Amino acid sequence: MEDMIGKAAREFVDIFGENATHYGDAPGRVEVIGNHTDYNDGFILAAAIDRRIAVVGRRVEGALARVYSRTFNSGASFPVAEPLKTKDNPWLNYVMGVVWQLRNKGIGVDAFEAMVLGDVPLGAGLSSSAALEVATASFLRALNGFEMDPIDVALNSQAAENDFVGMNCGILDQFTSAMGRSERLVFLDCRFLDRYSYYPLGNGVKLVIANTKAPHALVDGAYNRLRASCFRAAAICAEKFPDKKISHLRDVNPEELDQCRTAMGDEDYRRARHIVTENARVLASAEALQRGDYRAMGGLMADSHASSRDWLGNSSPELDVMVDLALEIPGCFGARLSGGGFGGATINLVGADRAEAFAEKLGERYREKTRIDPEIHLFTAGPGAEGGKL
Ligand code: ADP
Ligand code: MG
Repeated sequence: MEDMIGKAAREFVDIFGENATHYGDAPGRVEVIGNHTDYNDGFILAAAIDRRIAVVGRRVEGALARVYSRTFNSGASFPVAEPLKTKDNPWLNYVMGVVWQLRNKGIGVDAFEAMVLGDVPLGAGLSSSAALEVATASFLRALNGFEMDPIDVALNSQAAENDFVGMNCGILDQFTSAMGRSERLVFLDCRFLDRYSYYPLGNGVKLVIANTKAPHALVDGAYNRLRASCFRAAAICAEKFPDKKISHLRDVNPEELDQCRTAMGDEDYRRARHIVTENARVLASAEALQRGDYRAMGGLMADSHASSRDWLGNSSPELDVMVDLALEIPGCFGARLSGGGFGGATINLVGADRAEAFAEKLGERYREKTRIDPEIHLFTAGPGAEGGKL
């Protein structure tokens, strides 16, 4: 089977009439456990998935970058020295954001032509946006020959999404896309990005992503409100325990949090409680994986969902239905909402030999119960981003 880079190279010739010389490509990702822990300086286990976005292209004369997205069947250009956010082609903002952030770091790039092609499902909680940013950065690094290690590629891409696109995501998405490995989960300590490690996720299990496809409720700003709660709670804990030098909820244990309960009010307390218990679940999950104990890992995933639902408050009726149904189907070790919440997708850890049947049954039962057609995908953990010469 022709890979994504090869296909993109063929499409490039089709549109631009010349051969592409360089490529970057990067996977989508899924948060396996660690819900909203990233911006609290906490822990996460995530996988790069075996779906990717490729960016291929070549250097050209002049001042413009010309980019074509096969996914959107549209092309657009922008001045490489001065990318400006556009409403006409929202997808181009992810590419421009990367160029813009490289310039902020003092790295200029030459004019180029590029083709974008991928099979990461869009807006399904699999971070196609991070895949596009990281693939773009990997392509530009190869094309322009500057040095940048994969963690800086991830940070550059996150800054592009935060400061250019205007989406306040944590580092998880871009880090996992840049640093993922086949048959491994990435363990990330969001405080010390160089303290990452890998845990085995062998061929015996599959990651099943079930998108609820429910219309998002009116949750504009909900993500930012959760963030604000967490930061307020951490500030109150810091005041109460000045010697502990608390900067984020990562530094707080459940007992300390309980001592600050009345000072912070119920809503902030409940949200913070999820974070401090979730960090412990991520650490326990890593140990379970090391032992190959998927049953224990699955139990922690189910606990994580209950905590997101009952304490953080970012589940939805459809997410709860999807998780409850999954846990009753044979072969399922664990299920939980994944990502921001308030809709979106669940992640399920399922025995590989049962995964197809599981996906089918889950889809059927969800449809019966909600009258909504879900979208269900099977993934394995794949490699992280690459870039180079074609
Ligand atoms: P998610 O990251 O969860 O998939 P986002 O809304 O953050 O959802 O990002 C999706 C956006 O990323 C798309 O609407 C599009 O602008 C851009 N994008 C994703 N994949 C591609 C692609 N193959 N080609 C061009 N743009 C893409
Ligand atoms: Mg995204």
